Amino acid sequence: MSPTPASTTPTAILSALLQEQQGLMELLHHPRKVTHAGRDFWLGDLHGRPVVLALSKIGKVAAATTATALIERFGVRRMVFTGVAGGVGAGVNVGDIVVASDFVQHDLDASPLFPRYEVPLYGRTRFDTDPALTALLFNAASEALAHGQASQAFPNARVHQGLIASGDRFVSGAGESRALHDALTGAGHPVLAVEMEGAAVAQVCLDYGVPFAAVRTISDRADDSAHVDFPKFVEEVASRYAHAIIERLLGRL
Ligand code: SAH
Repeated sequence: MSPTPASTTPTAILSALLQEQQGLMELLHHPRKVTHAGRDFWLGDLHGRPVVLALSKIGKVAAATTATALIERFGVRRMVFTGVAGGVGAGVNVGDIVVASDFVQHDLDASPLFPRYEVPLYGRTRFDTDPALTALLFNAASEALAHGQASQAFPNARVHQGLIASGDRFVSGAGESRALHDALTGAGHPVLAVEMEGAAVAQVCLDYGVPFAAVRTISDRADDSAHVDFPKFVEEVASRYAHAIIERLLGRL
């Protein structure tokens, strides 16, 4: 069997929620739907590049299934996640963007057999994103913000780069958010944002040697008002950010 040329192997673009994917669907040319593993995968061209759009669904296990299917079934050569997250680091505010340098699972605790947060049998706690793809994503996000995409409501929005924590919990209490931040930071993991999928996708991508990058728009501060207007924010702000960032990223690949 001859190897597939690199230009025809697609880039996967993952989102957690349907509303997050909407902006990307509008960009997709020649869309073709393939249903597999209980999920809809949308194949097509975006900005002249072959892509597969997929919903991770919510939580680490669902995201790992989607990521594995993208690699095994669709042969993707790189994976990019766009979504929303709660800001937990100082100065990480609603409307800001966080590009992941690496991920940790904040709910993983196999102590005392293994150190808190370490993924057993991997010998590691943090899973890095791909530096080159992450640099491109950071530039794409910075440019999207600078060009005023969806930022009228957040004129002081910033792009951050750093550690994101994932876990099977929607963090929606000021006390819980602070405890999570302080425990991770105290253990040497200064976390900027919390969500529910990224670390799982990072782990699958490490297993398969597939470059991975992730960007999250801050939808809430993971505090007591975290649920307020969440769907509206995703639809009106995050989905537009995703559109603007991915369009710019694909232009650079
Ligand atoms: N209300 C939504 C469910 C959202 S679950 C619904 O009705 O469908 C939260 C999603 O946003 C997850 O995909 C997670 O990755 C991300 N997220 C945003 N803010 C979060 C927070 N404070 N804690 C955990 N995940 C958060």
